[in-house]
Amino acid sequence: MSILKACLFLIFGLVITIGPAAAKIKVVTSIKPVHSLVSAVMEGVYKPDLIVTGASSPHNFSLKPSQAHVLEQANLVFWIGRDLEAFLVKPIVNIASNARSVELIKTEGLNRLALEGGHIHAQHDHDEHNDHDEHSIFDAHIWLDPENAKVLVKRIVIELSAVDPDNATTYENNGNDLVTNLSRLTEELEIAMSGLGGRKFITFHSAYRYFTERFGISAAESIVVLPEVLPGADRIRKIRDKARRSHISCVLTEPQYESNLAALVTEGTEIQIGMIDPLGAMLEDGPQLYFSLLRSLAESIRNCLLPTS
Ligand SMILES: [Zn+2]
Repeated sequence: MSILKACLFLIFGLVITIGPAAAKIKVVTSIKPVHSLVSAVMEGVYKPDLIVTGASSPHNFSLKPSQAHVLEQANLVFWIGRDLEAFLVKPIVNIASNARSVELIKTEGLNRLALEGGHIHAQHDHDEHNDHDEHSIFDAHIWLDPENAKVLVKRIVIELSAVDPDNATTYENNGNDLVTNLSRLTEELEIAMSGLGGRKFITFHSAYRYFTERFGISAAESIVVLPEVLPGADRIRKIRDKARRSHISCVLTEPQYESNLAALVTEGTEIQIGMIDPLGAMLEDGPQLYFSLLRSLAESIRNCLLPTS
């Protein structure tokens, strides 16, 4: 054996011994964006499981037996919270009874927006509320603000390190890298979204305020506030009238829902129809998904508001 080979052997040996320890924990995540952030923090240690795959929506999801089995084995479950993934409330108590449940919307330091319909204002919580009165007070789409993602990453690092202290250093290093990259993403999107103020668009459901408010775009009108309740003819008519009156640039549909509602809204108008995706239905799962998701969101809104004619 040459000296070079011997050296390489030694180096690889060292890397293996000082590298991250194999995780003894099973981690389950609810939706793709949460799965992406947890995957990035756990990179090199373990790939977390994902429940809401493909183009499913967490708003009206039902658990398959195989997914119940995955939950049964979990040590840690990361989800946004009862207002988004209502289907998880009972399984977390009954099936994932050995797991620690991390309801991310209850993370200290998050920018949380009050649900539409009343007075809209940003609110920072200073203490953990664990009471159930919080139900439906806050807009649950917190991940669509990359500054919120940074707060979530810090929480994810703490929760993982508590359950799997052997890998705490890896989680912390990955978390720090991720926070740096998220800051860069915010700066990148601030540039991408500049100059769009004043233009308006309509989305299927009320999901994008964390994004639009972060980047200074006019709040989007939505066909429904909560997708659990489909709009009636009356609501469609109101939105169509409003679209005509207030110079709406386009209507954005979502892969999780039928698009014929958009056609009803734009009927007899020049308003264009585009597509937007708050969950990353078409994107590959994993550490990079979160970044691709926000970039594609920015692109969808930009293309919608500034169509190339
Ligand atoms: Zn939603």
